[in-house]
Amino acid sequence: MKESDPSVAGSMRYGFRCFNKGTRDIIRNCFEKPFPMILKQKNGVPFFQFPRLASFSNDVRHGVFTRNGGCSRPPYQSMNISYDVGDGRDDVGRNRNIISECMEGKELVFAHQVHATDVLVFSGYEHPIDGNGSRDSEKRIGDAMVTDLPKKFLAIQVADCQSILMFDPVRRVVANVHSGWRGSTRNVIGRTIEVMGKRFGCRPCDIIAGIGPSLGPCCAEFINYRTEIPDAFWRYKDDSDHFDFWAISRDQLCNAGVLIENIESSRLCTRCNTDLFFSYRKEGVTGRIASVIGLK
Ligand SMILES: [Zn+2]
Repeated sequence: MKESDPSVAGSMRYGFRCFNKGTRDIIRNCFEKPFPMILKQKNGVPFFQFPRLASFSNDVRHGVFTRNGGCSRPPYQSMNISYDVGDGRDDVGRNRNIISECMEGKELVFAHQVHATDVLVFSGYEHPIDGNGSRDSEKRIGDAMVTDLPKKFLAIQVADCQSILMFDPVRRVVANVHSGWRGSTRNVIGRTIEVMGKRFGCRPCDIIAGIGPSLGPCCAEFINYRTEIPDAFWRYKDDSDHFDFWAISRDQLCNAGVLIENIESSRLCTRCNTDLFFSYRKEGVTGRIASVIGLK
């Protein structure tokens, strides 16, 4: 099946047999209101794109996948891409292949995410080695990945945490960051931009960034915030102890030198939209969606 153009999205609204009515309603709403992301599909598999990043489609390809279009069974239905949540390995492997096909068959690179600030760099013939001396993809510890290599697609796994996709069209470098609340308080975003500058000469003012679907200010309640969240972040909290981590990421990008007009946010809350995404907060045992970016 040919990849859809967002302008003909209406014709595909009811085309996903795997979607239940709730999901169709959400997707219909996406097109009937101003919506910050583009919904695309390939081979019947839906994924979102950021409009600004999508405008560089000659150089870079990206996709924020939903939980739909895969083959995992409940409670991982259906596009779970994590081997670490109890899902069957065969199903996860098939789902990863489906996503790779949507990214034009490119190699997907995963990391072992631990809510820290290690940045894995892929460049030339180097293969990053983590603190344990491992070269195995899934054993490499890192919560951010950066590369200037084409055909190496960086995949972050999330269920409520943010993925932040980045592209520097001048230096031709991409990055993908996993930032949950721990990553936010440790500023893994700022650390990644620092590495992009040091290793590849990226200037923050050239970087285009997209903040993926994640726990929104509607649902990010932290009743123990006094012990969990540093007080420097308390200004992002409302009177009911809900934090706006979307604003925190935007500000961390700006503080690192990224221009506000180069930052896009999906503003989609995963906990409010479990028809579309996995939510650890809402579901407990659940899957992880994939957020992917790579140079063509
Ligand atoms: Zn919410």
